[in-house]
Amino acid sequence: MHQLTLAEIARGLADKQFSSEELTRSLLARIQQLDPQLNSFISLTEELALQQAKAADARRAGGENGALLGAPIAHKDLFCTQGIRTSCGSKMLDNFKAPYDATVVAKLAAAGAVTLGKTNMDEFAMGSSNESSYYGAVKNPWNLAHVPGGSSGGSAAAVAARLLPAATGTDTGGSIRQPAALTNLTGIKPTYGRVSRWGMIAYASSLDQGGPLARTAEDCALLLQGMAGFDAKDSTSVDEPVPDYSASLNNSLEGLRIGLPKEYFGPGLDPRIAELTLACVKELEKLGAVVKEISLPNMQHAIPAYYVIAPAEASSNLSRFDGVRFGHRCENPVDLTDLYKRSRAEGFGIEVQRRIMVGAYALSAGYYDAYYLQAQKIRRLIKNDFMSAFNEVDVILGPTTPNPAWKLGEKNNDPVAQYLEDIYTITANLAGLPGISMPAGFVEGLPVGVQLLAPYFQEGRLLNVAHRYQQVSDWHQQSPAGF
Ligand code: GLN
Repeated sequence: MHQLTLAEIARGLADKQFSSEELTRSLLARIQQLDPQLNSFISLTEELALQQAKAADARRAGGENGALLGAPIAHKDLFCTQGIRTSCGSKMLDNFKAPYDATVVAKLAAAGAVTLGKTNMDEFAMGSSNESSYYGAVKNPWNLAHVPGGSSGGSAAAVAARLLPAATGTDTGGSIRQPAALTNLTGIKPTYGRVSRWGMIAYASSLDQGGPLARTAEDCALLLQGMAGFDAKDSTSVDEPVPDYSASLNNSLEGLRIGLPKEYFGPGLDPRIAELTLACVKELEKLGAVVKEISLPNMQHAIPAYYVIAPAEASSNLSRFDGVRFGHRCENPVDLTDLYKRSRAEGFGIEVQRRIMVGAYALSAGYYDAYYLQAQKIRRLIKNDFMSAFNEVDVILGPTTPNPAWKLGEKNNDPVAQYLEDIYTITANLAGLPGISMPAGFVEGLPVGVQLLAPYFQEGRLLNVAHRYQQVSDWHQQSPAGF
């Protein structure tokens, strides 16, 4: 049963081949058995899952038939779940039980999805390797000595290892697309404002966006359908109708204009990934797409700009974790300053502390203009680059990451080397654009992803292109040995 996709599960449940309760029990047993090798879950919610599964079965017996009704999923542990630990991968929130559900959690629960648990992640979503979690690193099921990517690495590893068909993630600079690429999954970061951020613990509020990780584009369409939509509780949520993503999956690619940015294929990109990316382009050409070289001239400034803006916003967002309003409190403080200092020093890990310091520095009087303001100007230039590119092409294609999954520990002492892995993904966050990563081959047994970007609110187009590609390729069907 663990090989079934969300779409196949929906059919199996509708045809009464199995019940949601049977499916849920079998996946929970599989997680118990295999997750110790991966560490992809922070919490399992067995009781809740069985309750939701039984309720879904009852709704189906009553004639209801939604695509997510009875479908098992998991949430990245930064989506607030009422009465359930929501740790954000941090000691700071180790004992935090959210008093309410995030909008995404509530919407998916209302659609009948069954929550199996909360997945591991980089602490406060800061990272690309899932090694910064207070709960320990997550392993890549394709090679247990390698990282699964981050920060949604727990969601990615669990889905890739067939512990469950799909999971939620969030993407501030690539945290859905990059782990999807490194574990052979499909993952989509929607347009900023498409999915509500209410109840999603904030990292960098102007960049964060929730989205699905699954094995296929078809499944991403189903899960995104359940997540997307206007939410009055999120002031940056956009009041745009949500199209039927499944309905456009099979649209023709005849005449689709694909842009290949020349800056993507420079030094720094593993040549084997370049080759697989171009092989993917060839397949899309056979489906009717036409290819054009484009330029994104400001791309080289994206990483420095992002690593000013994201830490700046984080330093502000994380100020609420002070041992008084929220979070871990130190023992026996001598006074208020001691309470703040020790609570934060004990509660936050090293990478989070580094980002808070960088962010606070960039925002401080005297440096604000030189760093933060400058970074915001670059952000606008990057957006303008995309706007002119989209005058000429319908989608932009390139590798998702410059390298396949690296070894655990390999980049731990060199944060900048790790930041450079975000080169292809962060521009979409800076511009607020939607992006998808899909499986496109293997290098030495490790998965490689191809990324597609589209104009605002064209998630349907991205899912369409990925789905058509998945009908003529079988990379996404490969599963890791041992799982
Ligand atoms: N790797 C990036 C960072 O560390 C992106 C993380 C994310 O998207 N949450 O900030």
